[in-house]
Amino acid sequence: MAILEDPIKEVLELKNYINGEWVKSESDRISDVVNPATGKTIAKVPMSTKKEVNTAVEAAKEAFPDWRRTTPLARVRCLFRLKELLEKNFEELSRVQTIEHGKTIDESRGETRRGIEMVEVATGIPSLMMGYNLEDIAMGIDEYVIYQPLGVCCNIAPFNFPFMVPLWFAPFAVATGNTVVIKPSPRDPISQAKLAELVDEAGFPPGVWNVVHGHKDAVSVLLEHPDIKAVTFVGTTKIGRDIVYKKCGETGKRAIAQCSAKNYMVIMPDCNVRRTIPALMTSFFGNAGQRCLSGANLVIVGDNKFYNEFLDAVVDTTSRIKVGYGLDEATQMGPMQSIDGKERVLGYIEKGIKEGAKIRLDGRGPNVIGDYPHTCFLNPTIFENVTPDMTIAKEEIFGPVMSIMRAKDLNEAIEMANGSNLGNAHAIFTSSGKDAKEFQYRIQSGNVGINIGIVAPMAFFPFGGMKDSFFGVLHGQGRDAIRFFTESKVVIQRWF
Ligand code: NAD
Repeated sequence: MAILEDPIKEVLELKNYINGEWVKSESDRISDVVNPATGKTIAKVPMSTKKEVNTAVEAAKEAFPDWRRTTPLARVRCLFRLKELLEKNFEELSRVQTIEHGKTIDESRGETRRGIEMVEVATGIPSLMMGYNLEDIAMGIDEYVIYQPLGVCCNIAPFNFPFMVPLWFAPFAVATGNTVVIKPSPRDPISQAKLAELVDEAGFPPGVWNVVHGHKDAVSVLLEHPDIKAVTFVGTTKIGRDIVYKKCGETGKRAIAQCSAKNYMVIMPDCNVRRTIPALMTSFFGNAGQRCLSGANLVIVGDNKFYNEFLDAVVDTTSRIKVGYGLDEATQMGPMQSIDGKERVLGYIEKGIKEGAKIRLDGRGPNVIGDYPHTCFLNPTIFENVTPDMTIAKEEIFGPVMSIMRAKDLNEAIEMANGSNLGNAHAIFTSSGKDAKEFQYRIQSGNVGINIGIVAPMAFFPFGGMKDSFFGVLHGQGRDAIRFFTESKVVIQRWF
């Protein structure tokens, strides 16, 4: 199959998008954005100054009064235009994700589609945002609830879904009448720059949608800013809980912090093996394991015969995954997004070996299709004999590593999973309705899969986790997002 054309021909100098204009940063701190497969620099991204971040917030604040008075129908017309432009640019947007992140082109197309779905669902705001009322709560008195926007909202994004994650929030925020400032991950910020170009073309008024590049300093400015009313963060628990959520509590901002994961996939002996194995491949090794929904620990329940046969089939199928450049359509798994990410995974593999896990498939080779530097590439790794106390079983590796554990029955498997401090997306594979229900009822996880390996809620359902995977009350996406981005006001009216 062909290697698709790279949509970026020369090194991009990324600018901030503030008040409907592309503004060059004055910062002298500029980072390289590197294509992890080829090792080539594809963009330069500024670490914006405090003044620049403040200017973006001010622009969003200025734009808010008019935007909130714009009728919901007029607001969603901008979203309809954006949706059309996203469809028109679907392939380019997807290829950009592949070259800045490393994921395969099909994974990028999936990400683009999911992002567009958020915009589509947010176009339902005129109905979704309606309040409710009751006549005659007392003689001649009515009472009603209206939902009003908050003001300026910001999103702090992770590197693993550079296009989609800000779209879990921004379309719902602007549709409900708020204005937004997005701070992309500095590791792969091009997708948000491309998205902002389309936002501009869609005709959103200046200041409604802003993008500022940067890293922790930019985040500090946003968190401290008195005019930011709500913060949505997606990233590690360390930053989400200890910095973002804490600071939002201190400064009285609404917050959603969607954080780290360590997902358990439980295999029951009555599962449909033919369907389960492909589901596990995408779950553990899709996006090179860099998903908050990725499988991490595979718990197999059953006798030795089932265990050995199942494990052999998993190892065999995994060993045939083709690793290569994401723009090569034959590739099934791309590189890690960064050298740091790869080093981190290698460190965990060393720890696994040291702590006594048995390596069944060693991905450290690596074996890559095509002539690319091996800087960020890894093949999938499978560990056997993993126990819940091992570091590789407890901490988020965020790479293509499967840790196999055994449990004597469903109860033990559930207890293992519930022993984790993280609870984002655990799943069970079984043909027993009773076991599926038992698992669903008891498992401590914000998203639960039943014969599904990647538990990604659709745009009209909420997306959040439990325990140290999530901090907040309302989740991203769907009705939760609409409530998050609005505050309710109760009116009691005497009409005579
Ligand atoms: P990260 O926490 O390193 O970075 C996230 C954002 O925080 C970035 O924009 C970054 O610039 C900023 N940041 C980093 N360090 C900071 C600091 N000290 N102070 C202030 N801001 C800082 O996360 P990442 O590595 O980009 O993303 C991967 C993580 O995101 C994984 O843990 C993954 O599980 C998680 N994730 C969770 C979900 C979910 O829905 N739960 C979804 C996607 C990713």
